[in-house]
Amino acid sequence: MGERLYRCEGIILKRIDVGEADRIVTILTANGKIQATARGVRKTASKLSGHLELLSHCQLQLAVGKQRDVLTQSIAIERFDTLQLELVRMAAGYYVAELTDMLLADEDAAAQTYTLCLETLRALCTVQSVDMVLHWYTMQLCDAVGYRPQLTECAVCGQTLDSTAQLWSFVQGGMLCADCARSDIQAMRVSLSVFKVLRIVQRESLATVVGYTVPADVHAMVYQILRRWVMRQSERAIRSAAFLDDVRRQDLSSGA
Ligand SMILES: [Zn+2]
Repeated sequence: MGERLYRCEGIILKRIDVGEADRIVTILTANGKIQATARGVRKTASKLSGHLELLSHCQLQLAVGKQRDVLTQSIAIERFDTLQLELVRMAAGYYVAELTDMLLADEDAAAQTYTLCLETLRALCTVQSVDMVLHWYTMQLCDAVGYRPQLTECAVCGQTLDSTAQLWSFVQGGMLCADCARSDIQAMRVSLSVFKVLRIVQRESLATVVGYTVPADVHAMVYQILRRWVMRQSERAIRSAAFLDDVRRQDLSSGA
């Protein structure tokens, strides 16, 4: 049989069960997203099972298929096991997987997204609090795929924003100066702390960002803005957001 095989490295973003024992797996690679069939993977004897866990970073071998390529081999390079040990980290991982799958459409952005995603998953295993990591990833991913909000200059007139800027506009695509407030009557008033966090996660490295301590109400507002921003661009709801919010609340109330 003249099967054409190829190898690649990737991160498992999504798994959907099909038929009796198969799974369709969405894989993020540095060259784009691949959907591949993993045949018989839900049988315990399958040599693929255990090597295709959600979010694991794998070395893969695929056979070119008519409809969809077929996974023939998978070896986990990094499994990010720590994400499975705490609900908050697990929920954060799902959130990252879903956002990536939602926003990445274009192959041009794949290499950058792949690097960002790996960096983010590693951080989620080690950081004290997942919130800044998630804000950072959401903002950087938006940047990579062409949905960068305007936070340095007014989204309407382009004048440089200072610390008095308080209005965020989904319609105009970022922060507004006081003169342009009327360009969007639905613009949201945000506190200086929220504006600062948005700017930090847009400009700074992940290592820098995780060093900031931010109050819970500011996190809540940043989540709200970034999620609505993402949903506007993708025209889809973020299904894992409710689970993340639930486990974050439990975490906060248990005094963690
Ligand atoms: Zn303006």
